[in-house]
Amino acid sequence: MDDWKPRTTAVHGGVRRSQYNEVSEAIFFTQGFVYDSAEQAEARFLETGPDEFIYARYGNPTVRMLEERLAALEGTEDGFAAASGMAAVNAVLMAAVKPGDRIVAARALFGSCLYILEWLAGFGVEVVLVDGTSEADWRAALSLETALVFLETISNPTLEVIDIALVSELSRQAGALLVVDNTFATPIGASAAAQGADVVIYSSTKHIDGGGRGLGGVVLGSEAFIRGTYEPYAKHTGAALSPFNAWVHLKGIETLDIRVRAAAASAARIAAALTGHGKLERLIYPGLADHPQHAVAARQMDHGGTMLALDLAGGKAAAFRFLNALHIPVISNNLGDAKSIVTHPATTTHQRLPDEQKKALGITPGLVRVSVGLEDCDDLIADIQAALSVI
Ligand SMILES: *Cc1c(COP(=O)(O)O)cnc(C)c1O
Repeated sequence: MDDWKPRTTAVHGGVRRSQYNEVSEAIFFTQGFVYDSAEQAEARFLETGPDEFIYARYGNPTVRMLEERLAALEGTEDGFAAASGMAAVNAVLMAAVKPGDRIVAARALFGSCLYILEWLAGFGVEVVLVDGTSEADWRAALSLETALVFLETISNPTLEVIDIALVSELSRQAGALLVVDNTFATPIGASAAAQGADVVIYSSTKHIDGGGRGLGGVVLGSEAFIRGTYEPYAKHTGAALSPFNAWVHLKGIETLDIRVRAAAASAARIAAALTGHGKLERLIYPGLADHPQHAVAARQMDHGGTMLALDLAGGKAAAFRFLNALHIPVISNNLGDAKSIVTHPATTTHQRLPDEQKKALGITPGLVRVSVGLEDCDDLIADIQAALSVI
């Protein structure tokens, strides 16, 4: 299993068959597990082995299959699932940090991740935000002893790409645990663990589900971190993943490689088709040579990602007219779906941020985020070009 390539791991990794030898992974929709004897129950509570379960908040066979399949794909020793991506981020930060500790984070973060950092600051954690694309900023912030470093590999919504290997090296020198939210990059051709992340988080709600169905999250890392630091917090605080959602996401992983590569190929073609378009002030795609961190993206990922950002000349009015004129991409706020999705971050996902913070993060009134789906790419290009022409 160790030398399987990703597509094989994605289909067979972590499989546990019941006494019926089913082909498709079973949904173990059970909270509890029966013990053969009182002695066995006592022994189970003293120490649970890898194939033994007590209660679904602690672990469940279907959830375990998801954890093991994703850990194998990312290349980490172990993993632990959570009810959502945010439940995973929250539990990692709460489990790994205590009052008086210092966190250094890249400032361009998913809104809810920023919220948790602000919340932790209220409990006496020092939170330092840096420009994640600036080596000088990281060097300065990590010249002091630090407990934890947090970043998103590709930021939302402006698609800045952070050099994980560089931050990993500086984190090690500062004594910090490097936690990477790799949701936008996906585990396909973009292992954050292989670049030096100690802990990798995925919101499996996105590409791993791939059909916009259920929430889920997963935390991947060393056995020492998952069992020693994370699990004690997670299992007692209750943000456990439902076995049904775990099953949906487990089956989603089977086609993840094919879907991510198809969507990334379409994103690259759309970016090329729109380059130099007169209605765009800026086109952001990490796979394009003019992206400020293109070299980092090319080193860390073997595709340019499935997300684009378009900054439309004409601000909010132009952005709204563009969104309303599209026939194929739907206006929503998820990403990584088979359906292409367009989002206006300034008035939705990032509405809460004060104007000066939006400006610092590049969230302009004309910015539109595009999650490229699995539709025919020529249809998408024609639809986007037609919508741009009505502005
Ligand atoms: C969506 C997302 C999250 C949160 O995940 P949920 O499953 O919605 O809780 C965290 N980080 C990133 C980068 C995301 O895109």
